[in-house]
Amino acid sequence: MPPGLRALAMVECYRPGVPAPRRYVTDAIVLSRFDLGEADRVLTLITPSLGKIKAIAKGIRRPSSRLGGSLEPFAELNVALARGRTFDVVTEVRVGHAWLRLRDSLESAATAWYLAELADRSLEERHEAEPLYALLRRAYALLDAGMAPGRVARWYEMHLADELGMRPEVDRCVECDRVLEATESFRWVPPLGGVVCGRCPGPPADRSGLSLEALKVLKAYQRMDIEAIAGLRLPEDAEREVEGAMREFMRISLERDARSLAFLDEVRSAPREPRAPRAPAAPPDGPAPLP
Ligand SMILES: [Zn+2]
Repeated sequence: MPPGLRALAMVECYRPGVPAPRRYVTDAIVLSRFDLGEADRVLTLITPSLGKIKAIAKGIRRPSSRLGGSLEPFAELNVALARGRTFDVVTEVRVGHAWLRLRDSLESAATAWYLAELADRSLEERHEAEPLYALLRRAYALLDAGMAPGRVARWYEMHLADELGMRPEVDRCVECDRVLEATESFRWVPPLGGVVCGRCPGPPADRSGLSLEALKVLKAYQRMDIEAIAGLRLPEDAEREVEGAMREFMRISLERDARSLAFLDEVRSAPREPRAPRAPAAPPDGPAPLP
């Protein structure tokens, strides 16, 4: 074989499509899980380079299991896996970082489940997902640090939509492409991808109006870093409006309702749980008004 061809043949060996190694190690966060059979558990994991994978932890529900309690959600894990026919098999787990304080608040924990479900719904199995992995990781760290769960959720939804190539349009009318002006009225139309101006007819009138304040909040979530958003003084009505708007946007984008939302709403409607005092989310000079 001529040297050039031989070199090519060697390159060929390392191309994607060549059987992957039977055993591998990856960072991972548990997105969901269910029990299987007598003692097994099936997990959906998000990993940076392999995206979403399904794995089985055999015998994990037995008290003698080596995998024990470390294969839990709300933690960054380092997992060793062996390729299997249906599911890859978890052989070892090490906890890299556990966001333990996140679990102290039921609302933070319920929000964390919701964020995981959105990631699960957005990802195809075995497609690289580094940005989404980083997004979820940061959201969990923020919840763990005691940031308002609603703000973390809105920031996450906005950036998830961005990653999926579905960034909501909040600067121009999605119908006529005119820059939106503060003096006009707006409508929020998720099936069209964002805001429709007062002059355009848009789809049948059942779409909800959007206040100027809510539009400003949506823009803030797109433009500002979450640390800055945490320090903003936002009108409660506008926050509620934006919550409804972004939930609807995610529902339309992912083509279904998130199941974990029912639990989150139940938690929020329950009487306030006592909570350990935490560092204030706002800067020392008090929350800033919305620009
Ligand atoms: Zn228009």
